[in-house]
Amino acid sequence: MERVDCAVVGAGVVGLAVARALAERGLETLVLEAETLIGSGISSRNSEVIHAGIYYEAGSLKAALGVRGRHLLYEYCASRGVPHRRCGKFIVATHVGQLGELERLLAAGLRNGVDDLVMVDGASARAQEPALHGVAALYSPSTGIVDSHGLMLALQGDFERAGGMLAFGARVAGGIAKPDGIVLEVGGDEPMQLMAGIVVNSAGLHAPALAAQLVGMRPGTVPQGYLAKGNYFSLPGRSPFSRLIYPVPEPGGLGVHLTLDLAGQARFGPDVEWVESLDYRVDPHRADGFYTAIRRYWPSLPDDALQPAYAGIRPKLRGPGQDNADFLIQGPAEHGVPGLVNLFGIESPGLTASLAIAELVATMV
Ligand SMILES: Cc1cc2nc3c(=O)[nH]c(=O)nc-3n(C[C@H](O)[C@H](O)[C@H](O)COP(=O)(O)OP(=O)(O)OC[C@H]3O[C@@H](n4cnc5c(N)ncnc54)[C@H](O)[C@@H]3O)c2cc1C
Repeated sequence: MERVDCAVVGAGVVGLAVARALAERGLETLVLEAETLIGSGISSRNSEVIHAGIYYEAGSLKAALGVRGRHLLYEYCASRGVPHRRCGKFIVATHVGQLGELERLLAAGLRNGVDDLVMVDGASARAQEPALHGVAALYSPSTGIVDSHGLMLALQGDFERAGGMLAFGARVAGGIAKPDGIVLEVGGDEPMQLMAGIVVNSAGLHAPALAAQLVGMRPGTVPQGYLAKGNYFSLPGRSPFSRLIYPVPEPGGLGVHLTLDLAGQARFGPDVEWVESLDYRVDPHRADGFYTAIRRYWPSLPDDALQPAYAGIRPKLRGPGQDNADFLIQGPAEHGVPGLVNLFGIESPGLTASLAIAELVATMV
């Protein structure tokens, strides 16, 4: 049987960042990816925003790894030439009833170490973004955007330079904990068994299903996963805004916001649609809800301007109507399998936090 020091399941942004960290520490590391490309899952279907770290509960992993990850990500993008832009963002209160929520976000950001937030009135926000409607806004200068595929390619390059290997078409079906490592059942064109001393389950939406197939996990430690789809609509032509525009958050997501790509085009999303399966088609009828949500902060959005773009699916650990869960990063103390780390519920800000998650996993193993 083949044997490696470490096997990382999943070549999304988190799996690649973790694999790079392990390989750069001198561990022989193999990434097992079910699809034929890196970033085939959540990592290529998101808003590509580098979050500042405002929204998350104090003391949570999302807060700590989001803020740390943001610093690491800006440094990494600058040093590797990964396209990105620190464009800043406004979170807008569109009526006085939302001012309390802006104050709450300012306090939450400060508690999380986001110390550059500025509260501005509607007129000051409009001086910078003339198309914007709002009575006040919270400005976050350290929010930005990143080319997520460029980031994954850079991580893959570092990983391979450090001696790591990627296997595509290698779906991990399950595994068994043995005294000297974990035996993984790898399917695909060339099914095989692989023994790894360390296994990192970074399978994104499939992480709970994979953990459920790992024999040796302590009963009751695999969380129930839920799927919350987020649809996006794009706006052809140049964006009327040069910064990101967010409403105050809504249950399950951050609200239908305007984000920019690096070419300056605007897209709006994601909304929240609870689903049971992975269907990425965007229903054009959902545009009605988008016009209503966007016109609260951009009243002059023209009729028929939005075009269905793409959808992503959030790997949720709580269902509809429940509070947001934190990232769940489980080591042997929690699940009982030596050498195994499970990454569950790595939804937003997982892209921002990817390098910090990798740093944490490398210390855990
Ligand atoms: C709508 C939406 C918007 C978001 N916006 C942002 C944002 O603006 N900023 C931000 O910081 N974060 C954002 N996020 C979160 C961020 O995109 C994710 O946290 C991050 O991409 C998760 O990466 P991952 O590597 O864990 O998962 P994935 O990218 O899904 O990677 C998992 C990989 O595992 C593979 N896999 C699955 N099962 C197996 C198996 N059994 N064997 C082998 N391989 C397997 C899959 O094919 C996939 O390639 C958003 C998420 C969503 C859904």
